[in-house]
Amino acid sequence: MIVPGQFYSRTKSVNTQGREPPSDTSTLHYRHGQWPRAATVEDFRRNLAAVQARIDAACRRAGRPSASVRLLPVSKTVDEARIRLSYQAGCRFLGENKVQEAQRKWEAMADLTDLRWSVIGHLQTNKAGLVARFAAEFQALDSLRVAEALERRLQAEGRSLDVFVQVNTSGENSKYGLPPDQAGAFLRALPAFPALRVRGLMTLAVMSAEAPRVRRCFRLLRELRDRLRQDAPAGIGLDELSMGMSGDYEIAIEEGATVVRVGQAIYGARSTPDNFYWPAPS
Ligand SMILES: *Cc1c(COP(=O)(O)O)cnc(C)c1O
Repeated sequence: MIVPGQFYSRTKSVNTQGREPPSDTSTLHYRHGQWPRAATVEDFRRNLAAVQARIDAACRRAGRPSASVRLLPVSKTVDEARIRLSYQAGCRFLGENKVQEAQRKWEAMADLTDLRWSVIGHLQTNKAGLVARFAAEFQALDSLRVAEALERRLQAEGRSLDVFVQVNTSGENSKYGLPPDQAGAFLRALPAFPALRVRGLMTLAVMSAEAPRVRRCFRLLRELRDRLRQDAPAGIGLDELSMGMSGDYEIAIEEGATVVRVGQAIYGARSTPDNFYWPAPS
């Protein structure tokens, strides 16, 4: 059991002097059911532009260039027709939580040869072969068994894969990911898997309308990354921080996110409850 407060208190706090105050009261927008469904290319253009404008504003607040943040649209539960509309609006790299759903879509849209797929959800070892076949990126690596399975299947395919190590920063038993204090040992084991190109860390913040609690998760990930980077093994890259979703990506950017995974603010509200993707809090 992780106690985020304890873990966090051992680390330095960020220097935000000379910057605009953080947006804790204004930008946390848990608006489930309030994201309108995008049904035309125009809808997608508008939603993408609106999200990008918020990303740009958050970057300005944090004194960071806009180009330092990649928007990864998350298309889970969205059908092929609407994904094709989002493609027409410019989406070329899509996140999917469930491997089989991602694989089905990859096959169905193989004609879109420059469309790439990022698997962002928990993976069971018996599905590693699927990821190895089609994914360009895997963001939820949190076990050596999965690393081994991926490595074997990637070698067989003659491919390599960009990966993020998922860390549980909320301390909730319900979330996947390594406890922060195990991440260092985990990273030291990863050079044994040369087909995995480690890019950085990924996390899901606590599901809370209290912005400071959400921010603490993101800050913990960045500070963990900063410490781990000091003696990361050769070949293990830790430049990327994948954190932030529709309800909290602006806070994540203020805390250093380089990838934000945004679904509902682009495609519209999902009817599938979040506990379909990660177990409900116990
Ligand atoms: C669904 C999902 C997201 C995006 O969530 P939205 O609320 O749709 O923005 C981000 N990360 C992961 C791991 C997801 O499964």
